[in-house]
Amino acid sequence: MKILIAEDDPTSRRILGAVLTKLGYDVVSVADGNEAWEELKKDSSPRLAVLDWMMPGLTGLEVCSKVRARGAEEYTYIILLTSNSSHEDIVEGMKSGADDYVVKPFNRSELEARVKAGLRIINLQSELLLAKEKIRVQSRTDALTGIANRRAIFDHLDGELNRSERERKNISIAMLDLDHFKSINDSYGHQAGDAVLKECVRRISSTIRPYDFLGRYGGEEFLLVLPGTDESNAMLVCERILEQVQAEPVVFKGISIPCTLSIGLATWSGREDVDKLIEASDKALYMAKDKGRNRVVFF
Ligand SMILES: [Mg+2]
Repeated sequence: MKILIAEDDPTSRRILGAVLTKLGYDVVSVADGNEAWEELKKDSSPRLAVLDWMMPGLTGLEVCSKVRARGAEEYTYIILLTSNSSHEDIVEGMKSGADDYVVKPFNRSELEARVKAGLRIINLQSELLLAKEKIRVQSRTDALTGIANRRAIFDHLDGELNRSERERKNISIAMLDLDHFKSINDSYGHQAGDAVLKECVRRISSTIRPYDFLGRYGGEEFLLVLPGTDESNAMLVCERILEQVQAEPVVFKGISIPCTLSIGLATWSGREDVDKLIEASDKALYMAKDKGRNRVVFF
């Protein structure tokens, strides 16, 4: 864990550094407020800072205010070092955004205890951020297949439509539907159905290009966004997908289950309404089903 010490008095800086290094922290020492702010602005900045109140450049209070004004997601815990110990000064320090203060000359064990209290807060906040990120990812991922869920694919499609309008490029979207999926479930059970879905997603994902984006639209339906792709290139991608999916049956508990897909394809240039695009690819998909499945149809 990295800790920043900003203190202009060399003796005090050395003692602080020695105390914190002995406790096993990775100490970064600076001698003025401007340098302190530079350190705290960095991407992998220390999460805990001990700032002297009075120092050249920015004061500890000013550094504090700057850190708080930035409003970064990762919290920086700040301990102010002060020779001012009147209540008014302490209140002013806390108002500027300091979490705690230590009065100079400091007592080593008190400093240790206050740093440890700060680290407890930092650790709690890190756990909170991790949990938040995990929930964010979960809320955008399809639990069974691990690809984007409906919400995530729509967000992505919206972004790509804006981009294709801005860059005046084509965009294609494909609605993919596993053929006779209900009868797979009915004949072999839902676990077999799940295995088929997962394996088909694996095959499709290994076929598409790095900038294509696949999401689960509903039960056995998938939406594929193909940015910067015109009709003929979209057709090529979709034909490769059909080949991959039907190349060999999916084997589940020794049972071979043949799989095919039907795909409805639509291509646009310029801004279009998301609903219209979905509707068009849906219509094309129904035509593909009508014509005997295991094929791609253009809207
Ligand atoms: Mg000073």
